[in-house]
Amino acid sequence: MLYRTMKKTGDKLSVLGFGCMRVPQKLGRIDEARATRQIRFAIDRGVNYIDTAMMYHMGANEPFLGRALADGYREKVKLATKLPPSAVKTREDMDRVLSAQLDMLQTDYIDYYLFHGLNGEAWKRMKELGGRDFMDKAKADGRIRFAGFSFHGDIDAFKEIVDAYDWDVCLIQYNYLDEHNQAGTEGLRYAGAKGLGVIIMEPLRGGNLAGRIPAPVQAIWDEAEVKRSPAEWALRWVWNHPEVTVVLSGMNRDDHIRENLRIADEAHPNSLTERELELMSRVAETYRGLMKAGCTGCRYCMPCPSGVDIPSCFELHNGAHIFGDKQVARIMYLLRQGGLGDSGESSLASQCVECGECEEKCPQELPVSELLKDVAKDFEGRGTKTIIRFLSLFFTFQRWMTLRKARRVEKRARKK
Ligand code: SF4
Ligand code: SF4
Repeated sequence: MLYRTMKKTGDKLSVLGFGCMRVPQKLGRIDEARATRQIRFAIDRGVNYIDTAMMYHMGANEPFLGRALADGYREKVKLATKLPPSAVKTREDMDRVLSAQLDMLQTDYIDYYLFHGLNGEAWKRMKELGGRDFMDKAKADGRIRFAGFSFHGDIDAFKEIVDAYDWDVCLIQYNYLDEHNQAGTEGLRYAGAKGLGVIIMEPLRGGNLAGRIPAPVQAIWDEAEVKRSPAEWALRWVWNHPEVTVVLSGMNRDDHIRENLRIADEAHPNSLTERELELMSRVAETYRGLMKAGCTGCRYCMPCPSGVDIPSCFELHNGAHIFGDKQVARIMYLLRQGGLGDSGESSLASQCVECGECEEKCPQELPVSELLKDVAKDFEGRGTKTIIRFLSLFFTFQRWMTLRKARRVEKRARKK
């Protein structure tokens, strides 16, 4: 196992981290015996960064991980978890949620504590609620060792957040297809230059870059002198960047874990050759050619006066068409564009009134309003409002459960 040192914290972290979001399940619940065995197997072979979050598995992931890290495994790892902005309404709620998490994870401290899934709006709210003071105090009294945030917004918001606090770490989505999406390469370098450790999620784009490979893409892989699986190419591409500290992989198959451990033994920064990098950019170009809209995610077209999040619509629509996972993409679309975020504003493709403003600004000269009709046709229609309502109720329920749990922990602590 290779290790990279976090600039600010000095921790030596394994380049491969275990992301618990995708641990194996059985009959809709975490398969605890199998997942525990897999996590401990990875730790025994050098993995020392474990990532979870309160939202995973409807709140069941943290209590599970608390049990999985018993028998001395907690002490062998740096544990990361996240505070969901949607679960807090006040500064005090942040302390309550953290107390509940410490209780569920059966630990006295979290090594890396992150605000979960920030974008510009979520950060504005966390800042106004006193998020920076909360992180300062939690660090000072030892409940957390280091502070960070995970991110799903645009590059401007990313830079604003990086500059707004003395963060130790950030967690971004990054892979060879998302070089210019969300934080992207620009954000990676920006955070790296400011001394933040950068943890990567979605190195395989939810497994898509390793799953069913389109024939024109496979033809390019076949040209490579050194034969590697598509998953290995994707992981090595991320590790090739010296600014990357840890790559999280959501591993739930034994053979995948073994393969990832092997690759993590060899993935030095700057170890891919010029020819290999050129081959990989041809693969990325080929994937882009399969997209419905040639949107680069530059956001020059934004803001849309009708509130449509144009690049986000295209990102999900393109993904659905390249990888054929339309149902998953539709749920993601309704989650992101359906007004369930911190702003409460919906940004659906169907809100487009064809004013043409965005088309004047798009450097790719895309017929945006026409393309948005395709997005609306594929992702909206009958049932949209019902699904959004259901998701909204689900999140309200989850928030209520989180705070109820936190209050119980508080009561128990007072009795002691
Ligand atoms: S054409 Fe549609 S998407 Fe573009 S700016 Fe106008 S309303 Fe927004
Ligand atoms: S300006 Fe064009 S390419 Fe850039 S995000 Fe908007 S639609 Fe996509």
